Amino acid sequence: MTNKDLAELIFPDINKTIEDYEKMYPRRTIEESAAVTRFAPSPTGYMHIGNFMQAIIDFVIAKNTNGIFYLRNEDTDQARQIDGAVELIMDNLNDYNMTPDEYEFKDQVIGNYGPYIQSKRKEIYHTFIKHLISIGRAYPCFCTKEELDEMREFQESRKVRPGYHGAFAKCRKLSIEEQIERIKNGDAYVIRFKSNGDFDRKFRFIDEVKGLLMLNENDIDDIIMKSDNQLPTYHFAHVVDDYLMGTTHVIRGEEWLSSVSKHIEMFDAFGFKAPKYIHTPLILKKDGNSTRKISKRKDPEASMSYYSELGYPTMAVVESLMTIINSNYEQWHDANPDKSYLDFEYNPKKMSSSGALYDLMKLDDISKNIISKMTKEELYEDSYKWSKKYSDSLKSIIEKDPEYYKSILNIEREQVKPRKDIAKYSDIEGLIWYMYDDLYNPTDYEWGNVTDKNEISKILKTYMDKYFTLDSEEWFNKVKELADELGYASNMKDYKKNPDNYKGNVADVATVLRVALTSQSRTPDLCQIMNILGKDRILERYSSFYK
Ligand code: GLU
Repeated sequence: MTNKDLAELIFPDINKTIEDYEKMYPRRTIEESAAVTRFAPSPTGYMHIGNFMQAIIDFVIAKNTNGIFYLRNEDTDQARQIDGAVELIMDNLNDYNMTPDEYEFKDQVIGNYGPYIQSKRKEIYHTFIKHLISIGRAYPCFCTKEELDEMREFQESRKVRPGYHGAFAKCRKLSIEEQIERIKNGDAYVIRFKSNGDFDRKFRFIDEVKGLLMLNENDIDDIIMKSDNQLPTYHFAHVVDDYLMGTTHVIRGEEWLSSVSKHIEMFDAFGFKAPKYIHTPLILKKDGNSTRKISKRKDPEASMSYYSELGYPTMAVVESLMTIINSNYEQWHDANPDKSYLDFEYNPKKMSSSGALYDLMKLDDISKNIISKMTKEELYEDSYKWSKKYSDSLKSIIEKDPEYYKSILNIEREQVKPRKDIAKYSDIEGLIWYMYDDLYNPTDYEWGNVTDKNEISKILKTYMDKYFTLDSEEWFNKVKELADELGYASNMKDYKKNPDNYKGNVADVATVLRVALTSQSRTPDLCQIMNILGKDRILERYSSFYK
């Protein structure tokens, strides 16, 4: 009996060879410098910001080098499968304009290296496992859960390095005859990789972010095929898929760094060249005076749905992540404000290797800037699209009168120094409600220095009687004249010299005009607001203070 017999017994229906697959999936004919990257999420129904950051790096590297960015659905852990999880991933990539060059979605396969869904690749994995068994680099393991628990407990109590290695790898010592007999007997088994490594030996490994590392060789006989569904584990699927799909750069979280030695040994066992690895650091957040890992459980911002629900423009989220992806991104962006982030050349050496601090305040700043540069049409389109999914109230405001809504968005827009008060689409309603009579029902007026009711009504009445205008050239002069008439300094210099000579200054008067019209002390340009509201509605709101 030989290893070949064992392989044949386990996989009698597998007739293809690795060479057959190599012919089916020939090496890609792309330029030498072109990178092939992949986003390989597990469909768990949740998109973590750290995974999304990796997808951005994948996308940027592929675009930088005229390469390929593909999506692979890593669904070998079928117990964790959730309905709609794949849609969530695809929608997210599409929303962010990061549609992969190759993917498989709803019976549509784009690209020649599929299936891109791991559960559909069983025959491929089995072919590769069959090969490993036949060369003596993989074997069936019959250990039961109880036996493995016992082993773990023993290792813990003796403080021995955990895992199925060395003397603990019981089943690697079974003879082929015994293995064949037990399989014929119907005993349940998994397939394990047979490691040739020595944990006490080190090898050189270059991580593109962390640089040269000296890692211990792997000596664990890891499971490569599970018993229940005969699907491979992550470690094995990674090696087979990234080889056949021609991945040049694997970008993944640093939690995988500790498994690299396994992956390298498996690539070696097949005689394949391993890809380059970019292990991304954890995303951190400030929590009081310390920083900690962004947590799926505690922090809503760990999920990409947070940003969609609040209505951040996708570019703001991408830019904010770019600032932690490369430390020189912000500087580059400042110097090239009109260029796309895809023109930025990603450099793994410029990525923090210890942890990437993500700052929501910074996201707001970036977002305010981006929204301030949108035309009113762009902001209208984007915010309307958002409202249809996330806000019935904003949606009905917009649909009532789209042109009126646009005129409000247009205040202090499309100019050299545009307004920067909107960070996300969910802010909009709270910033424009006072422009709508049916929503305008203030309970609180943010008066400034002038709070006396009689004084307020005098300012408003005098304004409407004598100084009201909608002409933007004239508007502020009229407010100054009003100030002069009522004993407020119209000139700030005069006021500063002799404050006691005046009741206040023109800013106090303007504040009364602003607050009486909007209830807010901070609004964009008041003259533009007045122009949109029109004289009748202004009179109605002002006269309510002096009737
Ligand atoms: N499916 C793995 C995960 O979601 C992918 C890791 C990788 O990119 O290789 O963590």
